[in-house]
Amino acid sequence: MSQPVTLLMSEFVTHDVKRFLVSRPSGFSFEPGQGVELAINQSHWRDEGRPFTPTSLVDDGVLEFTIKCYPDHAGVTRLLHTLTPGAELLISEPFGTIHYQGPGVFIAGGAGITPFIAILREQARAGTLDQHTLIFTNKTPADIICEKELRHILGERCILTCTNAAVTGYEQRRIDQDYLMEKIDDFNQCFYLCGPPGFMESVSVALRNLGATPSSLVFEH
Ligand SMILES: Cc1cc2nc3c(=O)[nH]c(=O)nc-3n(C[C@H](O)[C@H](O)[C@H](O)COP(=O)(O)OP(=O)(O)OC[C@H]3O[C@@H](n4cnc5c(N)ncnc54)[C@H](O)[C@@H]3O)c2cc1C
Repeated sequence: MSQPVTLLMSEFVTHDVKRFLVSRPSGFSFEPGQGVELAINQSHWRDEGRPFTPTSLVDDGVLEFTIKCYPDHAGVTRLLHTLTPGAELLISEPFGTIHYQGPGVFIAGGAGITPFIAILREQARAGTLDQHTLIFTNKTPADIICEKELRHILGERCILTCTNAAVTGYEQRRIDQDYLMEKIDDFNQCFYLCGPPGFMESVSVALRNLGATPSSLVFEH
């Protein structure tokens, strides 16, 4: 069952990602890391629901979404990026298998950071971010969502790599088995994974080769 929500504001957080604040339906609740389906409540689009992840705190009065646009493709994200305040969206019940299961290493690629923004913000608010590490890979520094906030809350435990740019302050590395072995001492903890399909496959194989058990890997499936 979908419910209508109103777009309150949107602004760019990177060159191709916007944050959207929308009204919160009464009684709506979610766990950090869960997704919802959002559709644009206009003819031809209201049946085109797509999954997105609330990045607001669980008890904020409004809902925040952090959404990357694919401008070459006439899809939902392109139209979402053109909407102005007052536009109506349809929101589904929350779903998903990414739930917080304790301290560990969060490994994200690109827009795959969104469920971890929700989880890490909640841990930051509770003052329980010790023993949480983020390894976040992007093409270039301009693509990094919420970089300042993530560096602020995690300090040295915010590890940023950029695969397509050699820039001071960012390691120019892919997240492969050698890299994970260098950065992680303990493979007996939770590993939270979110990113494009190829990234998910290669990182989960690398973690298992390094001794992580399948049950310690938390991802959307
Ligand atoms: C559980 C879950 C949560 C998610 N949360 C978020 C989130 O919080 N923020 C976020 O930004 N994304 C999130 N995503 C990804 C998001 O759902 C997709 O980016 C979105 O569905 C794309 O919708 P679209 O209509 O624009 O593209 P679609 O029409 O659905 O196209 C699907 C994919 O095709 C690719 N594509 C690009 N160009 C073309 C082209 N020219 N022709 C054909 N295909 C093309 C894109 O990679 C796109 O993702 C999430 C995904 C899942 C599964």
